[in-house]
Amino acid sequence: MEVLDASAFINDYTTDDDVATIPLVREELDDDASGYRFDALEGGGMRMHVPDQGSVEQVERAAKTTGDLTELSRTDIRLLAAAFELDATLVTDDYAMQNVADELDVRTQVIATEGISERRNWIYQCQGCGREFDEHRERCSICGSDLERKNPN
Ligand SMILES: [Zn+2]
Repeated sequence: MEVLDASAFINDYTTDDDVATIPLVREELDDDASGYRFDALEGGGMRMHVPDQGSVEQVERAAKTTGDLTELSRTDIRLLAAAFELDATLVTDDYAMQNVADELDVRTQVIATEGISERRNWIYQCQGCGREFDEHRERCSICGSDLERKNPN
């Protein structure tokens, strides 16, 4: 189970895991595209979770301990409480939320991972003999022909 904050909808975060969020997040989505993604996920079974007051207070205490309380919105605190109650992974790029999650032993997942997911290990293939090399070189060391980069996937 993953608990999604507003930035997950804004950045079109996708996962194969079950997802949950809190109703307050919907109010933070003021562009049509992210609002539509929220509604589509809700229609697809996304769990709407309202955390207990006790968990909210526990999050507030943890945030006081880490010094992040003033950085957190009402929504942030309830997202943390929801992840805590559901024993879920909190999906957020917010540093203060990650900090408090750590204090509560709640796992976090960052959203802005485009750089990582786009990284590939290129293969260089000789246009002459077809041999493949996993590092770039000027010419094929066997036949001297040009190498061309290809996507291993
Ligand atoms: Zn070659």
